Amino acid sequence: MQTITDLVEVLENRQTLDQAGLTRLLTTPKAEPLYQAADRVRKRTVGDEVHLRGLIEFSNYCRRNCLYCGLRAGNSRLHRYRMTPAEIVATARFAVGLGMKTIVLQSGEDSSYTVSELCAIVQTIKKMGVAVTLSIGERSRSTYAALKEAGADRFLLRIETTNEQLYARMHPGMSYQNRVQCLYTLKELGYETGTGSLVGLPGQTPAMLAADLVFFKELDADMIGLGPFIPSPGTPLAQAAGGAVDLVLKMMALTRLLMPEINMPATTALGVKDPAGYQKGLSCGANVVMPNMGERDYKRLYAPYPGKEGWASNAETQLAKIKAVLQQMGRTVSPGYGFRVRGG
Ligand code: SAH
Ligand code: SF4
Repeated sequence: MQTITDLVEVLENRQTLDQAGLTRLLTTPKAEPLYQAADRVRKRTVGDEVHLRGLIEFSNYCRRNCLYCGLRAGNSRLHRYRMTPAEIVATARFAVGLGMKTIVLQSGEDSSYTVSELCAIVQTIKKMGVAVTLSIGERSRSTYAALKEAGADRFLLRIETTNEQLYARMHPGMSYQNRVQCLYTLKELGYETGTGSLVGLPGQTPAMLAADLVFFKELDADMIGLGPFIPSPGTPLAQAAGGAVDLVLKMMALTRLLMPEINMPATTALGVKDPAGYQKGLSCGANVVMPNMGERDYKRLYAPYPGKEGWASNAETQLAKIKAVLQQMGRTVSPGYGFRVRGG
């Protein structure tokens, strides 16, 4: 039987490993060699620069009912808000003023904004000279196409899990096939496409996570976001156990080794679950952080999971904290847009 070091070496040299090998690395108690290899590869391919993406959570209305998420339509306890287009644009301007080179617009699946409203918002923000990323869930091909035409550069849509039974259990009324189709459509339309998984969902096994990794590689995703599942009050999974930080770090390290040149954030959920989450993520393959640009009240209400508001009271403070973490780690803030590098 191959040792953990052997498996890591194969992966580092060939950027591929079978599902059994991936599963073994996901379950090893000795993950240090894996983390170190991911950090080496990250440094060699995307370097020490970290891309900051200014996150604007513009609406917490959602028509979906994902079992794990505090924004689910069925959570009647949550006070809902919706920023106006003018507010969204003003927040983007503020974020650009703070130095953000990418603006990420995220929301629940809120159908109250029309496609032309969304396109106008994207067009206005693009004029500020930044990249625009959307994370607004499953839409029609024509909507994705119109938003691309309006100037959107990237799109984030996590598959959450590639296990179809688990997907069906977690997402009542949703179709796994459609989600996969959305991802391929986004790629085809020329978006830099991001996906990822929720790590530690009830019933999720290491073999399922290994299959997620294979899916990321097959899709040739440009960005991968991985975070721990954090039980959220007001949801059917409020009492479930959350995902483990070390399992998230293993998933991140494996992702970096399988797909050396992608962009990968140290996610907010990782930073919420562990006070040193950003540092740990950035040491296990991550090269992106997404500081929240929103006002305190919106940030509190945009709560797929609890604990987000604890990190910093406002955008400036959060940004300063993140920059301090980077400086202490010998990493720098990238002055560029942070598109995916090819052949690095
Ligand atoms: N509605 C859009 C985007 C907003 S949700 C969408 O679903 O694509 C953003 C992400 O929050 C989701 O992809 C999900 O992975 C994450 N999330 C939701 N509930 C969570 C929880 N309880 N713990 C950790 N992450 C969660
Ligand atoms: Fe809505 Fe996204 Fe939460 Fe699902 S994960 S309920 S789509 S906000």
